[in-house]
Amino acid sequence: MLTAQTITDVSPFVLAAAVLLMLLAESLAPLVPLLPSRLRVRHALGNLRLALVTAFFAVGGSFFLVAAAAWATDRGYGLLNLFEAPGPLRFFVALAGIDFFEWVRHRLHHRVPLLWRIHRVHHSDPHVDATTALRGHPLESLLAYSYFSVLVVLLGIDPLSLALRSLVAVVALAWHHSTLSLPARLDAAISLITPTPRTHRLHHARDVRTTDSNFGTLFTWWDRLLGTFTPGDSRPPGQTGLDGFDSAQAQSLRGVLLSPLQSPAPQTSPPG
Ligand SMILES: [Zn+2]
Repeated sequence: MLTAQTITDVSPFVLAAAVLLMLLAESLAPLVPLLPSRLRVRHALGNLRLALVTAFFAVGGSFFLVAAAAWATDRGYGLLNLFEAPGPLRFFVALAGIDFFEWVRHRLHHRVPLLWRIHRVHHSDPHVDATTALRGHPLESLLAYSYFSVLVVLLGIDPLSLALRSLVAVVALAWHHSTLSLPARLDAAISLITPTPRTHRLHHARDVRTTDSNFGTLFTWWDRLLGTFTPGDSRPPGQTGLDGFDSAQAQSLRGVLLSPLQSPAPQTSPPG
């Protein structure tokens, strides 16, 4: 039987498979010139190393999160438990509700200087590709799981909907961080619903004018509704990464783990 625990257990493997699949796909149709193979492997291993450190926190966090959802559901706590909503509706509300609050969380990481110091590890990747989906600071993971544990109780999200949403999200992360090139019209059509490699690349642009846009994970709706959507266009995509974080030392495991302490903290753009 499909349970929240089973889905949570397989999620890391689904993420790994999605990243590998997107690495293959982007090799066949890259949006930007790819690095030579040797450097591409070295880049992937660098992101994987950080992912393994962050996974220590993420695995514990995900079990705690599912447990919080089960606790709230068993006791009938939270918004969705106030009425008898059918399963598919509960799943969609969980999908869209969590995604909206994920958008808020992501936006706060760009707005609040202390949170930006933690999130910028994800943005300091000079060669964004599918493996960038794995690149996040352990502190951001700890904060995110704490935030979502409170949220699932308040919203009354059941463990199965939560686990299914997480599964969809890991596939979406591998997809929109990849450098897969799609025909511009198809890309634009897909981005009516979900971020595409072209639109999310603008979020990782070294050109700070588009970094504070396209925050969405599963849906582009929050960016569109709240004025932070930048459409992908047919121009060649620009460079990704962050000025001041390109040295071998800054990109090392020690460098990325200690980067929240690095001063001065470059900003993506003035708060606004
Ligand atoms: Zn970001």
